[in-house]
Amino acid sequence: MKIYNTLTKRKEEFIPLEEGKVKMYVCGPTVYNFIHIGNARPMIVFDTVRRYMEYKGYEVNYVSNFTDVDDKIIAKAIEEGVSAEEISTRYIKECKKDMADMNVKPATTHPLATQEIDGMIEMIQTLIDKGFAYEVNGTVYFRVKNFKEYGKLSHKNLEDLQSGFRSLQVSGEDQKEDPLDFVLWKPKKEGEPYWVSPWGEGRPGWHIECSVMSKKYLGEEIDIHAGGEDLIFPHHENEIAQSECCNGKTFARYWMHNAFLNIDNRKMSKSLGNFFTVREIGEKYDLQVLRFFMLNAHYRSPLNFSAELMESSKNALDRIITCADQLKRLTKSAQCEDMTEEEIKLTEEVQRYVKKYEEAMEDDFNTADAIASIFELVKFANTHGNGDSSKAFVQYLFDTIVKLSDVLGLLVDKEEEMLDEDVEKLIAERQAARKEKNFKRADEIRDQLAAMGIILKDTREGVQWKRA
Ligand code: AMP
Ligand code: ZN
Repeated sequence: MKIYNTLTKRKEEFIPLEEGKVKMYVCGPTVYNFIHIGNARPMIVFDTVRRYMEYKGYEVNYVSNFTDVDDKIIAKAIEEGVSAEEISTRYIKECKKDMADMNVKPATTHPLATQEIDGMIEMIQTLIDKGFAYEVNGTVYFRVKNFKEYGKLSHKNLEDLQSGFRSLQVSGEDQKEDPLDFVLWKPKKEGEPYWVSPWGEGRPGWHIECSVMSKKYLGEEIDIHAGGEDLIFPHHENEIAQSECCNGKTFARYWMHNAFLNIDNRKMSKSLGNFFTVREIGEKYDLQVLRFFMLNAHYRSPLNFSAELMESSKNALDRIITCADQLKRLTKSAQCEDMTEEEIKLTEEVQRYVKKYEEAMEDDFNTADAIASIFELVKFANTHGNGDSSKAFVQYLFDTIVKLSDVLGLLVDKEEEMLDEDVEKLIAERQAARKEKNFKRADEIRDQLAAMGIILKDTREGVQWKRA
C-alpha cells in the first residue's frame, strides 16, 4: 500500500510501526458552529483511509480531537452571553450527528483539549527544561531556532522563514526572542476560561494540544498524522517541533493532507456568501451523496462543489443502489440454489474488478478509480444477473458490491422501510419520554426516526409525521 507523504513529497510503501496495527491521528474541528462541507472533507477522506486499513486486516487506533478552547469559541460565547463550554458542548454534539449522517465512524478516542490541560502543562515544562521554550510575562514561547529541523514538513527554509517573518512582526510580539517563536501558553484575559499553571493563570496555545493528545492516546511515535493542507504550516510544523523536541523521537512517519474544497470555483467563505454547512446540504440530499461526491475525486486534488456535481453524484450513487436492490430481489426469487459451471467462471471476472478496486486504493487511496471499478461491477451485474441466475451467484454479486461500497462508507443496501405501526410506537414512546422530562431519550427517538427518513412535526393536534 502506497501513501503520499507530505514529509518526503513522495509516495511511499506503508510499513506500520507495529505489525498489523495502525496508529493514526487526525486534527479535528474547532467547535464554535455547525461544521461546513470543507471540514467534512478530511472527515470523510480519512475515515475512508481507516476503513480500507481495516478491510486489509489492520487494527486501527484512530484518534481525532475536538478543539474546545479557542478565540472563536470564546467570541461566540460572548455574543450569545453563555459559557464557552456551553458553545463547545453544543457543537460537538451537532458535529457528531453530522458525522453519523455522513457515515463517518466515531474515532477510537475523541479527546477534548480542555480535558488534557495537565498533559499540556507537563509537556511545556519539559520543553522549558530542555531549553526549547521560555517564559516572558506569563506567556511561554517555543524557541524555534533550537530545533534545526524546523521547516522539514512544509519544506521551508528556516532562514527564509526568519527573514520573512521579521518584516511581518506584529506589535506586542516584541517580547519574543525571535519572530518565528510560537505560543505554548498564554496568560488569561478578563472573561476567558483559564487554568492554573506554573506560569500563572492562562490557557494553552492551539498547537500543543495535538502533540499532547497524540502522545497520550497513541504514544510518542505514530504511523499517520493527517488533516487539511492548510494545517501543514504552521500547525503541523509546530506539532513536529514540540513533539520531537520533547520526546526525542520521530513524531509521525506518514503525513497525509487533503486538498481544499471550493464552491463554484471560489474559496468558501462567509463573506462571499458561498458557505454551506453539512446540515444545510443534509436538508436537500442524503449525506451519502455528499460522501460519494467527495470520494469521486482524489483527496489530494482540489475539489469544486456545485449543485450540478451534487446532482450527478446523486444519480451515480442511485445506480449502485438500484443495482444492489435488484440483486437482492433476485436472491429472493431465484429458482436454483447453487452456481452453474458458467457462473463459477464468471466469478473470476468479478474478482478482476475487486483486484482493480484494491489496486486503486493501494495507490494512495485513489477512491475515484475505486468507484470506477464498482461501476464496472454494476454494469457486469446488470448484464449477468437475471431471473435465470442461481441464488448463490446473485448473492455473490450483491455481497461484493455492498462490501466494496461499504469500505468507502457508502451504504448501498437499502434498509427495509419501517412499518407505519413501528413509527407510531416510537412516536408514542417519545411523547411519554417528553412527559417524564426525559429529553435525552426523546431526542434519541427523534434522531432514530430521522435516520429512517421519518420527519416529525409537532402541531396543536399532536405529532404528525411523514416520510422524507
Ligand atoms: P478547523 O476547524 O478550521 O481547524 O478545520 C478542521 C479541519 O477541516 C482541518 O483539517 C482543516 O484543514 C479542514 N478544512 C477546513 N476548511 C476546508 C476546506 N475548505 N476544504 C478542505 N478541508 C478544510
Ligand atoms: Zn492538530
